[in-house]
Amino acid sequence: MAYRVTLIPGDGIGPEVTRAMTTVLEATGVDLEWIRVEAGVEVIEKYGTPLPPQVLESIRETRVAIKGPIGTPVGTGFRSVNVAIRKELDLYANLRPAKSIPGIKSPFQNVDLVVVRENTEDLYAGIEFERGTPEAAHAREEMMRLSGKFIREGSAIGIKPISEFGSRRIVKFAFEYARQNGRKKVTAVHKANIMKFTDGLFLQVAREVAQEYPDIEFEDRIVDNMCLQLMQKPQLYDVLVLTNLYGDIISDLCAGMIGGLGVAPGANIGDGIAVFEAIHGSAPKYAGQNKVNPSALILSGAMMLRYLGEREAAARVEAAVRSVIAEGKYVTYDLAQGEPVGTQEMAEAIAARVQEMAPHEGRDPIPIES
Ligand code: NAD
Repeated sequence: MAYRVTLIPGDGIGPEVTRAMTTVLEATGVDLEWIRVEAGVEVIEKYGTPLPPQVLESIRETRVAIKGPIGTPVGTGFRSVNVAIRKELDLYANLRPAKSIPGIKSPFQNVDLVVVRENTEDLYAGIEFERGTPEAAHAREEMMRLSGKFIREGSAIGIKPISEFGSRRIVKFAFEYARQNGRKKVTAVHKANIMKFTDGLFLQVAREVAQEYPDIEFEDRIVDNMCLQLMQKPQLYDVLVLTNLYGDIISDLCAGMIGGLGVAPGANIGDGIAVFEAIHGSAPKYAGQNKVNPSALILSGAMMLRYLGEREAAARVEAAVRSVIAEGKYVTYDLAQGEPVGTQEMAEAIAARVQEMAPHEGRDPIPIES
């Protein structure tokens, strides 16, 4: 029976990379039925909202989705559709692996990190009060009264909620991931020296959870030191677990270390429900040009296949991406040493490689990665 998967092409470069991803996943032979739904800036006129209810309804029904990026206006306008999907479906774990790919020029070699980012709390909770509004004035007064600290008049105010529940489940997720994928160490990243109650709680819970996993090493790092360490000794690190904002920033840093956003996949996972998406955004300046690298969403698709239990097909997709990049002939502008190919051409080269690698009699199966 086919796997029913909700497909959200998104906007900007979303539709191009989504088409490239389906080309490759279909080449695996896994029976996938795409349930296509629309979200993003381009559907506002049609539905009056960038996130029409049928999108969440479809994901709730299929329990698995893959999406292209969706743009968010900066400073004003609607709040992020991407964040809304994660929050509405309680996709609390954002999984962002960063693994070096041979053939990509980077000052960092043999990077193999997994960033586990909390997805529902922190400064991303969207609790903000706009400068000059009665709400901001009221929040300012209350905050000054409660904390005994001065807040400048005319300030905008944001709230950073970190709960014991949210911290415990994300740290547990990181340890479970480490255990199930043969990883040795979990590092909790925080700024608990300054944010004693919010990051302090996260760290305290991380230390408690670590006691339940004596087989996995545990340590913690202050986030600024973590940036420095990643630049100097990335090989010392394995699984990193972070609150929402640090996770967002550090995962882009890790993506940069392995060759950029064009090759960095991701997944948003809740209990029995998951939405897969690349780390990169909708890169509007490249929209419609068949130019950008489709690998990040294709590798997100491989993560989805593994989630569905299709480990052999997932490994084949990953191996095919690595092989096409290492060969360097059919790669997009961000990786090309010579003449680049387009998004769809790169996807077709990867799809052809996926088919060549299909298991057949007399040949050893390719090794399955975790
Ligand atoms: P972006 O990731 O869209 O682009 C930044 C730069 O990274 C691009 O200009 C390009 O040089 C490079 N890049 C991105 N994707 C690439 C690819 N596949 N291949 C090659 N190069 C690639 O980030 P941005 O410009 O900060 O954001 C643009 C929009 O995307 C914003 O509206 C933002 O809110 C949104 N966004 C969406 C998501 C999501 O859907 N989950 C994530 C991040 C940003």
